[in-house]
Amino acid sequence: MTRLVVVSNRVSDPGPKGSAAGGLAVCLLDAMRDRGGLWFGWNGDLVAEESEIAISCTKHGRCTLMTAPLTERDYREFYLGFSNEVLWPIHHYRLDLARFTLEAGEGYRRVNARFADLLTPHLRRSDLIWVHDYHLIPLGADLRARGVGNQIGFFLHIPFPPPDILTAAPEYERLALTLLDYDLVGFQTASDQANFSRFVSEVLGGEIVAPDSVRLEGKFLKTGVFPAGIDVDSFVAMAEDPEGANKIRQYERHGATRLYAIGVDRLDYSKGLPEKFLAFRRLLDSYPENDKPMTLIQVASPTRDDLQAYVDIRHELEALSGKVNGKFGDFDWTPLRYIHRSVPRETIAVHYRASRIGLVTPLRDGMNLVAKEYVAAQDEADPGVLILSRFAGAAEDLQEALIVNPYDIDEVAHAMRRAIEMRKEERIERHRMLMKRIRQHDACNWMVSFLRALRSCRGMEDRPDQEKQLREI
Ligand code: UDP
Repeated sequence: MTRLVVVSNRVSDPGPKGSAAGGLAVCLLDAMRDRGGLWFGWNGDLVAEESEIAISCTKHGRCTLMTAPLTERDYREFYLGFSNEVLWPIHHYRLDLARFTLEAGEGYRRVNARFADLLTPHLRRSDLIWVHDYHLIPLGADLRARGVGNQIGFFLHIPFPPPDILTAAPEYERLALTLLDYDLVGFQTASDQANFSRFVSEVLGGEIVAPDSVRLEGKFLKTGVFPAGIDVDSFVAMAEDPEGANKIRQYERHGATRLYAIGVDRLDYSKGLPEKFLAFRRLLDSYPENDKPMTLIQVASPTRDDLQAYVDIRHELEALSGKVNGKFGDFDWTPLRYIHRSVPRETIAVHYRASRIGLVTPLRDGMNLVAKEYVAAQDEADPGVLILSRFAGAAEDLQEALIVNPYDIDEVAHAMRRAIEMRKEERIERHRMLMKRIRQHDACNWMVSFLRALRSCRGMEDRPDQEKQLREI
């Protein structure tokens, strides 16, 4: 059988089933255990010098994890610098937060080239190679430069913005050109795919051959839309855990209100957290004094603390949550419970189930798995309501949510009020449709459909026949 080789910046710790963060990691690992895959990437460790970098391998069933450390300089230039101070903000439409330096660009190219150097000797001719996300855009081209002729696919987990935004980033044209060395590039949504095709035709001077293929200077590339999903059944099982439900009942006995809204986000400026807090404040303002309509629980897990933009947003949130609680809090009620810690998914799952509202309001998001997890966790006989930003990739599919503009504080507050007052029949009907959609696009479906599409592309050995390929379309 063809071996699957997955390459991502970080390699997940496999652990027992269900413990990996994100349904995607769980599903990918399960599949690789069965198929006998190889997963290559950074192990999270740092060393002082490049000479200290050595590969380590561990076996988990038939899956081999092959990892290497980064140097401290790589961490600054490749990981914090180019990946998270250039690519992350610009792909989330935040040119104002992007910081371009020559060293960061050079570090990005260096680490991608090193990944290719380390991986190439371990590849077999028949491997199917799947590269993940914005840290590794040029890896396909780097592997080709080392003679790797295998089929190589790339999946972008974050948004692909319109050309006008990307052209403001120095070097983006050179970077985008390297995507043409893959056989297949996958996106979360149809609008990401369309933006990419526009970039190829309007900026690089290529041609849109079909909605799912582009051509440039003799190179031909297939693209596709593969919405990422969760492992629905394992999430349902976590949410239904009776021990968890007992804990929730205990909290409720101590609380003055039984109605909760929940938000779960990394503390990232793309997640729209200040706007969410302001909308909650607007909701509380709209009720008569002494009314305690609901409590907002917001998990904001720490992330990329070494970057100033993340320090700034943390300070902003601390101030806002203090203001809301100072104004509305009472001896028996804390309106906004702000948790700046990472919480295990098992705990999150039971809290989703106990919350009348799932508040998912990013300013921009590739997909947003929390939206799907919230739906999966609900009691189908008395489900909560998902309020979802129109700028999350998930909104392309989850139309039965209350779709909102996260910048419009009044609209979000109004949607919260609507969710509080929504009749059970309407909640059940919306939830039924949403469940259908998250099952249609679950984690396994995402992986299988991507790999099937990749396998149907031809590898490098067929590249001399590209003209024939083009004629067949
Ligand atoms: N998550 C978690 N603990 C936390 C915060 C988040 O396990 O404290 C999980 C959450 O349940 C989801 C993932 O992290 O599975 C976040 O994925 P999403 O696509 O929503 O956002 P991303 O962080 O990838 O931007």
